[in-house]
Amino acid sequence: MAAGTRRARLLTFLLLPLVVLAVGVLATVTFRTSFQLEKLREQSVVEATLSLANEKADRLDKLIVEQDDAVVSDIDVSDLRSLTQGWLRGPMRQTPTIRAVLLLHLVPSRPEVVAFASRAPGPDDEAFRRLLLQRMLGDMELQVEPTSELRHLHQTYDETSYLVSYWQRTHGGRRYLVVAWHDVPRIVHQIFPRIYSERDEQSRVNVVDAEGRIVFGPPLSEGEFTVGRPFATTLYKWRVNVTLTSAEELAKNVERRRRLEMILVGLSGLVVIAGIVVVLIAAARERRLSRLKSEFVANVSHELKTPLSLVRMFGELLHSGRVESEEKRRQYLQIIVDESDRLSQLIENVLDFARVERGKLAYRMELGPVGEVVVHAVETCLARAEREGVELELAVPEGLPLLLRDEGALEVAVVNLVDNALKYAKQGESVRVEVRRATAYVEVRVSDRGPGILPEDRKRIFERFERGRNAQDNKIRGSGIGLALVKHIAEAHGGKAWVEPNQPQGSTFVFTLASRRAEPQEP
Ligand code: ADP
Repeated sequence: MAAGTRRARLLTFLLLPLVVLAVGVLATVTFRTSFQLEKLREQSVVEATLSLANEKADRLDKLIVEQDDAVVSDIDVSDLRSLTQGWLRGPMRQTPTIRAVLLLHLVPSRPEVVAFASRAPGPDDEAFRRLLLQRMLGDMELQVEPTSELRHLHQTYDETSYLVSYWQRTHGGRRYLVVAWHDVPRIVHQIFPRIYSERDEQSRVNVVDAEGRIVFGPPLSEGEFTVGRPFATTLYKWRVNVTLTSAEELAKNVERRRRLEMILVGLSGLVVIAGIVVVLIAAARERRLSRLKSEFVANVSHELKTPLSLVRMFGELLHSGRVESEEKRRQYLQIIVDESDRLSQLIENVLDFARVERGKLAYRMELGPVGEVVVHAVETCLARAEREGVELELAVPEGLPLLLRDEGALEVAVVNLVDNALKYAKQGESVRVEVRRATAYVEVRVSDRGPGILPEDRKRIFERFERGRNAQDNKIRGSGIGLALVKHIAEAHGGKAWVEPNQPQGSTFVFTLASRRAEPQEP
């Protein structure tokens, strides 16, 4: 192998893994970077959403605490009338969610309600009073210091959610508890819509209870872009969830892009692998072709040399005048003629083949007989067949259609097939050339009873430079272009060329010529 070829091969084998590696690294880096960027973006979106959720939760807490403060400023525990006269008479808009305010005397053994100011007096008030004394008081943080601080109790009793604000006061050595009863349904139906329904639709908000049931607002997707936060002080059993509408879109985009990137990376990997496979196959083919070509050059030189030396040897013999009998003289002359024929046939073949390779073999298609051409071609091989001791049989039916064909090319095809039969199958002792007519084509068949062709060689031998195992093993001279030419000629005539095995031995080479139209018949 030439040093250049070896270097190129080495380069290919080094380069290919490098290319794969580079593509792999590139894909990973791209994927990683875009993933990190996406993560950063997601993080900033989550942070923005969280601060929005904080703001929403704080807004409600503030609204309730402001009302509680208003109540505190109105009530004076030393004067029970301040409840009914002060807070109840005060404007409703100042404490819109407070339903009632109560004052309890915290007697350790039996606390009692000493004043009850209700916005909507009715049986519910009595129920609430009982609930407060029997259950709520137990749930309140009454001993935690500082006891006078404003506190909230958010609890569900009998499936109803209650929110009360409470704070303790002492007067004249007695402990009092002021309780503001907030109307939870009113908070849900009036306050939430007011403070959480965004007009700009940039975000969507809902409020869920401790069990995750929606108390207010639409259901939100539980993706990474929905952020929830419990209310800090007032409705602390509930949480407010916020999702940015743009974030939902973003989440979808992220998912879509991630999938697209995966597909792209996978596809480019596949393309690279396919490319490498194609390059490897092409390189292997190229190597095989160049080997075949150099074999071809050696074969052709040999094929040229042998008949030339024979012509020269017998020419010199004749020229020297040392040939005694007339019969010998004729024999030598015949050899010279035959070998020159072979020589010209070979040269013709090589030239035709070169034209085929360059795409320059122009066929001169003319309407004419086929049978006649086949007969003529076989006749040119008769002398050789006789010398080889092979009988040439010919079967051409009458009434064949006239065909559009190149007479010279057709003859080359037949001569090549007969020549091969004489070369590879002479021990079969007979070769039969037959022309058959079918509906859409005319078939030319050359059968021999020689060794036949190995099944794995049957397709291959029709490719340029390819020679069969039998030819190589038995060192039979040849160039490997004869059948390639036959195939090309058949295809140029709208036909095909192939080989069939014969029973019990030998092979039949067939090529067809299309006869699509109803052509007139041969005389
Ligand atoms: P060449 O004869 O110069 O090698 P061809 O293209 O004419 O090239 O033939 C290709 C191969 O087909 C031959 O090398 C031979 O192996 C095989 N072959 C062709 N004709 C016959 C035949 N009649 N019998 C057996 N083998 C054949």
